[in-house]
Amino acid sequence: MYLPDFEYYSPDSLAEVCQLLSQFGSRAKLISGGTDVIVKMKNELLAPEVLVSIKNMDQLKKIEYVPGKGVVIGARATHNDLVYSELLAEKFPSIPGAAKQMAQNQVRNAGTVGGNICNAVPSADLPPILIALGATVNVIGVNGERSLALEDVFTGPNTTCLAPDEVITEVVIPDQKTTGSTYIKFGLRAAGALAVAGVASAVCVENGVIKDARVVLSAVAPTPMRAKKAEAFLKGKKITDELLAEAGSIAAEECKPISDYRASAEYRRNLVGVFTKRSLRKAINEGHV
Ligand SMILES: Cc1cc2nc3c(=O)[nH]c(=O)nc-3n(C[C@H](O)[C@H](O)[C@H](O)COP(=O)(O)OP(=O)(O)OC[C@H]3O[C@@H](n4cnc5c(N)ncnc54)[C@H](O)[C@@H]3O)c2cc1C
Repeated sequence: MYLPDFEYYSPDSLAEVCQLLSQFGSRAKLISGGTDVIVKMKNELLAPEVLVSIKNMDQLKKIEYVPGKGVVIGARATHNDLVYSELLAEKFPSIPGAAKQMAQNQVRNAGTVGGNICNAVPSADLPPILIALGATVNVIGVNGERSLALEDVFTGPNTTCLAPDEVITEVVIPDQKTTGSTYIKFGLRAAGALAVAGVASAVCVENGVIKDARVVLSAVAPTPMRAKKAEAFLKGKKITDELLAEAGSIAAEECKPISDYRASAEYRRNLVGVFTKRSLRKAINEGHV
């Protein structure tokens, strides 16, 4: 469980971070809170020769509202920064709601939004609710900046479309008409357990009719996954228990779970059915929770 030797850089500018990542290429690893990187190094799953830290990038800690843009969350905001954000409590409490369900206090104090996205495990808890809320991410690299939909970042388990020199700087939740959103997960312990399956829902409801819905599933596919057939089925329909149950069945049909030591594929599929219905009902009845 000892750490292997490595060189450590902690630059003061994002330009330097990207330059170092580009210079060292596959020999380097970006580190933010380190709750994934250090654990993997100790377990000999990762042995970078160089660690490039973004811990000095205080500008990436912000959580603010920018008129015309939306809620901007810096990539170095920790899970507990989300939990205690007054702005998020007012605008999208479903985001702190998801962060509260993650890990233990120590991990929530160190782990960051950018790290949770870029670690790209299928069971990560923040991507589903952020995708359900239509998040985009801003990215900087040696060749400049770009913006892309969060759901397009993930390419498979532990892989993203980011180039080795690219850093996520912020996540943007656009202004929108959603009336409710929530993320619920099932873990093998009441606290501090990874999701066996999770479902985030975001809905726009007018006069008892679902005008729009996003349903995003975690831990039941190689990447966080939108249940697009269930979303399309819900649109324009009057809310009934039968409708939400049917949406759950459709989502269960379209997910792609595997069996592993935490649950069988069949069990996960059943969870998706039940949790889709439950999360939609919660988002409809309770708003952004
Ligand atoms: C005990 C324990 C419990 C946990 N429980 C949960 C849980 O319940 N739910 C959950 O979802 N996760 C959980 N995790 C995983 C982990 O804490 C989170 O994924 C965390 O958000 C990672 O953030 P970090 O800043 O520590 O990432 P790091 O370890 O610093 O980095 C993770 C990866 O992301 C890359 N990266 C980091 N920031 C950026 C950026 N801004 N731009 C580009 N690449 C970047 C790194 O290069 C690395 O590949 C747990 C971990 C531990 C150790």
